[in-house]
Amino acid sequence: MLKPPRSLTIYIGIFGRTNVGKSTLVNYISGQDTSIVSKVAGTTTDAVYKIMELLPIGPITLVDTAGLDDTSLLSKERIERTNKVFELTDVAIIVTEPNIWTQYEQNIVAELTRRKTPFIVFVNNYKDEILSNSFINILKAYNNQHSKLLNESEYRESFLNEFKRILIDIIPEETLNLQPLTDNVIKKYQTAIMVVPIDLGAPKGRLILPQVQMIRAALDESAMVYIVKDTELQRCLDSLKNKPDIVICDSQVVKKVFDIIPKNVLFTTFSIIFTSNRADFKIMLQGIEALKNLKKDDRVLIAEACSHHASKDDIGRIKIPRWLSEHFGFDVKYDVCAGMDYPKDMKKYSLIIHCGGCMINKKQMISRLNYAVENNVPITNYGMVISFINNTLDRVIEPFTKS
Ligand code: SF4
Repeated sequence: MLKPPRSLTIYIGIFGRTNVGKSTLVNYISGQDTSIVSKVAGTTTDAVYKIMELLPIGPITLVDTAGLDDTSLLSKERIERTNKVFELTDVAIIVTEPNIWTQYEQNIVAELTRRKTPFIVFVNNYKDEILSNSFINILKAYNNQHSKLLNESEYRESFLNEFKRILIDIIPEETLNLQPLTDNVIKKYQTAIMVVPIDLGAPKGRLILPQVQMIRAALDESAMVYIVKDTELQRCLDSLKNKPDIVICDSQVVKKVFDIIPKNVLFTTFSIIFTSNRADFKIMLQGIEALKNLKKDDRVLIAEACSHHASKDDIGRIKIPRWLSEHFGFDVKYDVCAGMDYPKDMKKYSLIIHCGGCMINKKQMISRLNYAVENNVPITNYGMVISFINNTLDRVIEPFTKS
């Protein structure tokens, strides 16, 4: 069976001191030997990601983290990586042993609360120890709408059922049922043309994830979908008896498509749909104001949510800097981060230009956006920047701004 992309799964982050039983819990849930289980403290040297189907919830990613209390030489880097897991965790599980609740666990609770992340406290009570009144009283405080208590010894036989019941209870509705990519864009039975250039930058033999996800979302609406290269768009339009309801294109051909399609057809880009679906559209749009005010030698961060081999025509590293240089008539300085990397030191940037983020979940995208806002750094999106440069921005944001 094909695995779903991680960005479409619910991330369950498992936190706790070293050797407290986090890996055992992962194996308990997944029914597989996913993580290394060992008596040696800190065996999980990095976060371990495991995608699985957890019916009836759907696809989940279990993230087994390294303990944050590890004092080994590698621990600084490991702690950094574990901290990154907070960014993407939709629901957390704090694993603890009977009658142990320290500042360490409280710090995790504080971090999750700050991020509005619901959590489950899992007491790994395989020795059937009697829980002290003071321990029970502490944990009772975490048995509410946003957090739940799961004592392993109470549910040993029916653990998985109880775990799923609690998860469904605690996962926010918008996480459980992701907003469809078609919202504001494609209605039931409509006709859409998707324009996909096959140029040197296109991966060989396949479409990229935003395109694939958009096609699937359109099919879910029983839409009629025509997929064409930019060179065939006019021919496609000519062949249709009625005009399409919407044209969606790759940002790189936005000007060409804008010039071809009728004025009364809804028009946007894959990148802008993703921004609307998984980020704060208004904040991203405000970033364009900062773009307009860029000055020579300002520093701009190009942020990509996946690691890929950069071609000589790479959109983030080559094309956007070149187009901005042509547009403004001067150069700014660029840093690039990719994949899980996202710099802590933000203050030096005048602007962040982020990709559509199809490889990360909404929680991580929002965490990145919030971090930029907390540091007073404007943030915007590839598609918005490219459309701005091509004088098509007003038109491509119309599906998301008109009431
Ligand atoms: S660069 Fe961003 S939008 Fe493009 S494929 Fe990677 S995660 Fe998706």
